[in-house]
Amino acid sequence: MSKLIVSDLKDLKGKKVLVRVDFNVPIKDGVIGDDNRVKAALPTIKYITDNGGKAILFSHLGRVKTEEDKAKLSLRPVAEHLADLLGKKVTFVPATRGAQLEEAIAEMEDGDVLVVENTRFEDLDGKKESGNDPELGKYWASLGDVFVNDAFGTAHRAHASNVGIASNMDQAAAGFLLEKEIKFLGEAVDTPEHPFVAILGGAKVSDKIGVIEHLLDKADKIIVGGGMTYTFYAAKGIKIGNSLVEEDKIDLAKELLAKAGDKIVLPVDNVCATEFNNDAPTKVFEGDIEDGYMALDIGPKSVELFKDVLKDAKTVVWNGPMGVFEMPNFAKGTLGVGEFLGTLSDATTIVGGGDSTAAVNELGVAEKLTHISTGGGASLEYLEGKTLPGIAAVSNK
Ligand code: AMP
Repeated sequence: MSKLIVSDLKDLKGKKVLVRVDFNVPIKDGVIGDDNRVKAALPTIKYITDNGGKAILFSHLGRVKTEEDKAKLSLRPVAEHLADLLGKKVTFVPATRGAQLEEAIAEMEDGDVLVVENTRFEDLDGKKESGNDPELGKYWASLGDVFVNDAFGTAHRAHASNVGIASNMDQAAAGFLLEKEIKFLGEAVDTPEHPFVAILGGAKVSDKIGVIEHLLDKADKIIVGGGMTYTFYAAKGIKIGNSLVEEDKIDLAKELLAKAGDKIVLPVDNVCATEFNNDAPTKVFEGDIEDGYMALDIGPKSVELFKDVLKDAKTVVWNGPMGVFEMPNFAKGTLGVGEFLGTLSDATTIVGGGDSTAAVNELGVAEKLTHISTGGGASLEYLEGKTLPGIAAVSNK
């Protein structure tokens, strides 16, 4: 069952097209840091305006908990940056509802772009956006003729600005970015070319249990790295010193290992320190980790082992760092894996999650990969085989 795509919408001329984009970018003192998410939305916006549609853009930005949060979480700087990227005027409306917004929409001409204020301003009054308040979704839907969802980053949440609007429109289409995410993640999980290797890292086993369970049947190998490794070590009776461990997940780790046979590949050595500090002296342990030490990165032999597992892969999905990537002295494992992925020119390579994405960007290998997912949480839920409400709400063809 394939989804309706924005390019399937034929008569866009003069139509008011409500578009849920993901403009949740880092902003400090009014200046945007990484603008990849804004750039990623351009193809859909341009398609709509090139075809004579009026693009009315909705996005959340951060979490709005108090009245004071509003000043630093306005979408105004993003709207201004979007105008620069598009090379045309973009109207910003500092409101999420009401006469000012309705009048600005009424004044739009074909091909115009308008940005509505941060949808989460509605959260101050009873979490209307994040709680998918039925009245809010209905109101926003009433402002347009058709809806396009291009925000993969929030597709795992049912909010008023995605599911709420979609459920009040005759037609909801996926934007090009959402289409790309569905295509690559969907193919990787449902019809991967084998060997299919998943690389899972990050702090906690508990965050990745669903992914491991779902991929055990589908992947040929699951490489595990990062903090969650040591819960698996504990399950195998390997000494972990002071390394991160989830005591209450050790039994589950045992079950997963028993079920997986040799599918789960764990690091064979680890870079350890006596303190959680970039400048702490390090020692590499193979197997058992000495008391007083904590593992903060995978070691060089593990990087080589993982490369060996990956070298013949035809599909690779990576989510989560192999160590404490934020500290340069413990980033080598993550960077080693990222660099190797860039050399796998015959494989479909998909990366998701903040740290893994930062690693491939830092290495300059992002262009060599097939797809960098724009949604950390959403891509994980996709890999768990869950139905994402934001995607389910898009019409089928
Ligand atoms: P996640 O949010 O689950 O992707 O996990 C990312 C976090 O895991 C990062 O902040 C890393 O610093 C942390 N992490 C990765 N490896 C380790 C480790 N060996 N010990 C402690 N924290 C780790």
